[in-house]
Amino acid sequence: MTAAILVAAGRGKRAGPGPPKQYRPLAGVPLLAWSVRPFVASPLVSETILVVPDPAEARRILEAWLPSRASVRWVTGGETRQASTSLGLAAVAEAGLVLVHDGVRPFVTPDLIERVAREAAAKGAAIPVIPVRETLKRTDERGELQGTSDRERFALAQTPQGFRKEVLERALALASAQGFHGSDEAELVERSGHPVARVEGSPANLKITSGDDFELAEAIANLRNAGGEGGGMRVGIGYDVHPLVPGRPLILGGVRIPHPAGPAGHSDGDLLCHAAADALLGAAGLPDLGHLFPDNDEGFRGASSLDLLSRVGERVRKAGFSVANMDLVLIAEEPKLAPHREAIRQNLSRALGCSTDRVGVKGKRGEGLGFVGRKEGMAAHAVALLLAAPEADLR
Ligand code: MG
Repeated sequence: MTAAILVAAGRGKRAGPGPPKQYRPLAGVPLLAWSVRPFVASPLVSETILVVPDPAEARRILEAWLPSRASVRWVTGGETRQASTSLGLAAVAEAGLVLVHDGVRPFVTPDLIERVAREAAAKGAAIPVIPVRETLKRTDERGELQGTSDRERFALAQTPQGFRKEVLERALALASAQGFHGSDEAELVERSGHPVARVEGSPANLKITSGDDFELAEAIANLRNAGGEGGGMRVGIGYDVHPLVPGRPLILGGVRIPHPAGPAGHSDGDLLCHAAADALLGAAGLPDLGHLFPDNDEGFRGASSLDLLSRVGERVRKAGFSVANMDLVLIAEEPKLAPHREAIRQNLSRALGCSTDRVGVKGKRGEGLGFVGRKEGMAAHAVALLLAAPEADLR
């Protein structure tokens, strides 16, 4: 059993104006939410404790960004980092191993969490470190250069820092008794006489302390959003075709359009809704429309395809996605789509759970060619771009 303690109790001014830096958005998501999510997602971590300046404020800002199944304990921090860590540690319920993480290190990975936890369980204390890459200069108190040190003899400490609970408790008690304030938890453990093992850290496991760090972090966050790791963007394509039968109603995107012929079909034959639904389902990696609502199911005879699309939209949102945009083309010799375009966009955007400006609909004629040109049928294409909600990787 492992507890994660995220220490984010500072009200620092170093990162510039605005709310405390741990809540500043990074690619639209609060920094601290980035830092917490990998711990909540880790199968190793059984308790997550957030040490913050004001739990009510933190909850209000963060709750929407944490998965609903995440059980997080909110603790009010202390005057110093060390006091905050002690308060977090006191809130640990059952775990025998604790991971202490800087709340402003948003790019910690599940792999690093696991390696630190494994090494700390084996050795009692373990931290991630990275080599010093730049040449290391010594300075005097005024910052004047005094010479060069061998960078091979130094390493940069990161978090999460992992400890058996009693090892950290003893180190914190000793430091407190001696009035000593360390730079990180590992320093206190070293002083208590317990050796600290190393695991390989990651240069991407940045600590965000200044406005410049935010710019770099924003770029990394956008790359991660685009790149995946369980989240990211998903694209899907949908297609539908129906023969036209005289006297059948023509319903497109839920809008009834006066026309002498309409699509034959089991349902209302709404090609735009069918193509849209398949694009969404394809992007979300779900079974297609025919699979979800089979032709031979009498329950769907005469069903409103716009209703089916709403149900698909809901299903896709429950799978952890939101619609970035959708674009549709109706290929039909007639009628003209333009007069109905806005009504169709409104219907579709309501079903997809997005704003109207994210839905494009256009008509294309068959120019006399093929089944479309001969007015024997109509076809529709749709593409959908989905964004994985922040917690999608936790489902
Ligand atoms: Mg169809």
